[in-house]
Amino acid sequence: MYENVNESPINFEPDENIRTCWENVYKELRSEYGEAVFRSWLKPLTLQAFYQGTLEVSVPTRFMKDWIQRHYSKNILDLCAAKDKQIRRVEIVVVQSHPIESGPNDTQDGPTGDVSTSKSNDNKTVLEDNPLFTELTSPLDTRFTFENFVTGKSNALACAAARRVAESANVPFNPLFLYGGVGLGKTHLMHAIAWEMQRTAPEKTVLYLSAEKFMYQFVRALRSQTAMQFKEFFRSVDVLMIDDIQFIAGKETTQDEFFHTFNALVDQNKQIIISADKAPSDLTTINERLRSRLSWGLVADIQPSTYELRLGVLQKKRAAMQVEVPDSVLEFLALKIVSNIRELEGALTRIVAAADITGQTVSLETTQDVLQDLLRSHDRRITIDEIQRKVAEHYQLKLNDMHSARRARAVARPRQIAMYLSKQLTCRSLPEIGRKFGGRDHTTVMHAVKKIEELMGEDTTIAQDVEVIQRALKG
Ligand code: ADP
Ligand code: MG
Repeated sequence: MYENVNESPINFEPDENIRTCWENVYKELRSEYGEAVFRSWLKPLTLQAFYQGTLEVSVPTRFMKDWIQRHYSKNILDLCAAKDKQIRRVEIVVVQSHPIESGPNDTQDGPTGDVSTSKSNDNKTVLEDNPLFTELTSPLDTRFTFENFVTGKSNALACAAARRVAESANVPFNPLFLYGGVGLGKTHLMHAIAWEMQRTAPEKTVLYLSAEKFMYQFVRALRSQTAMQFKEFFRSVDVLMIDDIQFIAGKETTQDEFFHTFNALVDQNKQIIISADKAPSDLTTINERLRSRLSWGLVADIQPSTYELRLGVLQKKRAAMQVEVPDSVLEFLALKIVSNIRELEGALTRIVAAADITGQTVSLETTQDVLQDLLRSHDRRITIDEIQRKVAEHYQLKLNDMHSARRARAVARPRQIAMYLSKQLTCRSLPEIGRKFGGRDHTTVMHAVKKIEELMGEDTTIAQDVEVIQRALKG
């Protein structure tokens, strides 16, 4: 159902390398999981697109998507990434025209039951019957409701604002802009708003999609000369939610289109909800005009979670899973896994699954056993400061040289290596890294990363230096 968009400004069509990579991964999945599992779940996986590090594969039903996501997606990503390091994410999408081979039945029931019965309004019916709607909207996760969202100091404002938007008959602020780090609940809150609105205002058409999808579909519409329909369609929904707006980076035409859609909707008093990984002012890849527009409404951040919040999430999850896990294990996990809530949930699922398979009860001991790899990586979190110190030491420079403006090669090159390592070994963004290096711009960091990658291919001394420092850091 996707046509070739090869000549478009952004290329979503997977190239030969990606295709071969996917074919190999597909074969490996078959041999790894065996014929039965493969035929039931993995066989229908079809390569659809590749964009900005995301490999998009499709399955015919929502149920399959959820299942694969829960059970196989991590491994699929690992297999892909091992073959082609361009691939940083695997996204599973539902493409219904897919030939259904064999496999489980689709169950699409949300918490409010069958969504289609709520089409009470003509406009809504017309819009939702529009094939564009099916193509554009992303399915809502049934677990992402307000009831399942645990609040604490770190996310109280964001959650209250989300509830306010979901429950208000008119538009309380526009847009609602939610931002925060990975896995802290932005998508969860957006889905919760959509579910709540479906319950209380079923006549409204809510369109939820990622910024990447917006970009992808807009480029397709331009290609196939259906841009007018695309524009009209967007301007006619009641509520527009765009997740991860940071991915709209760079493309001026898409940003312009989004800007106009945005204004048209605000003018009509339609609610817009946006999420991003940073505050509007820090979205440096988005043009100034759009950036300032994004901060006109309410900007609410989600801070890194606290111990209490993490424990609360685990308790809720334990209750939902109806499993026996001692409090001490939950406390241990909440203490150890601090980075994001997705990982925290993943850890609990893993220990429960392991206990299930081995027939043991869950204890602190089994937990430490099962999560060995995960816990080790959390125990040793490398910081930019450490990297700077090690690099300075290696090249016998002063620590200050890492931040200074000195441009002499003997200083500048090691500094670039430190930037490169910061990108590789920490989860800091380019702007954050830039700031740590004497307030440099993110493009400087990007340039450094490219330069060192290049040099490592040409110059064995540099490759060895990087290797040695890296090993020292991982200790
Ligand atoms: P983000 O979009 O910010 O990267 P998600 O919304 O996808 O993060 O959240 C990641 C996972 O963590 C989801 O499974 C979500 O349900 C869960 N989660 C995050 N915050 C909370 C919370 N406060 N209460 C319950 N679950 C949460
Ligand atoms: Mg998200």
